[in-house]
Amino acid sequence: MKIITTVKEMQTEADQIRQSGRIIGFVPTMGYLHEGHISLLRIARKQTDVVVLSIYVNPTQFAPHEDLDRYPRDFERDRKLAEQESVDIIFYPSNKEMYPPGYHTTVHVEKLTETLCGTSRPFHFQGVTTVCTKLFHAVKPHVAVFGQKDAQQAIVIRQMVKDLDMDMEIIVAPIIREKDGLAMSSRNIYLSPEERENALALHRSLKIAEDMIHNGERKSGIILKTMRDHLEEKKHIRIDYIEIVHPETLESLDTIKKHALIALAVFAGKTRLIDNTIITI
Ligand code: AMP
Repeated sequence: MKIITTVKEMQTEADQIRQSGRIIGFVPTMGYLHEGHISLLRIARKQTDVVVLSIYVNPTQFAPHEDLDRYPRDFERDRKLAEQESVDIIFYPSNKEMYPPGYHTTVHVEKLTETLCGTSRPFHFQGVTTVCTKLFHAVKPHVAVFGQKDAQQAIVIRQMVKDLDMDMEIIVAPIIREKDGLAMSSRNIYLSPEERENALALHRSLKIAEDMIHNGERKSGIILKTMRDHLEEKKHIRIDYIEIVHPETLESLDTIKKHALIALAVFAGKTRLIDNTIITI
């Protein structure tokens, strides 16, 4: 397994792989790997010849008041896990490598970034699309694998790849959960035992919504109220948003017809957690 820290070296390596006719699969992450990340690496391993994992905590997707400084990092642990998963290359650039002095460019996807997480994190997706563009130009993947856990991110990235004619395929992989239903996240380590217990309400509220829809309810307002009531019963839980939207356009749905994305962001103590489910009737 190679560890590459510069864009130039990564590009040279990618060119050589492409010239040899091999397919590059890419999994971008912020590290502190868990089973969710591992599931993406396994998909890349199965579908491509050379698996590149990037580990980069991208400062431009964090607002000043957010958790950039305390975001968990453990490269040695990640390196071992990547090795176990037969990752071929870890791309592990520094901030100076990604945003050298004099850096001035951003990539912005309109509309899709203005709802859901974009409301309370107005610059977040611009950071994500900018860093993903830069990572794609460094790694030159044929295929990149993202997680459904960050549903809006996956939709925004797909739109960017389409709009900017980026010649690659985006695969979106299912959410991996702990046994009790909590969606895996590097941020779960911030949770106190009590917050961890209360955070189960995210998945439970999505299950409640799924059951209601299964039993014939179609009015988003009624489903959202029941979810809200369930979450608000819990201590130390503050809802950022809960919404039922079209899974491609992210437009709000008053009535569920065929497909819907139910997405929520909730603070458990100071930790912001997200979760979602896609409904198909
Ligand atoms: P992160 O390191 O949190 O930026 O995540 C890197 C990639 O892993 C993103 O595409 C996430 O959507 C994906 N991911 C994170 N958590 C999970 C999970 N529980 N299940 C599936 N994919 C995940």
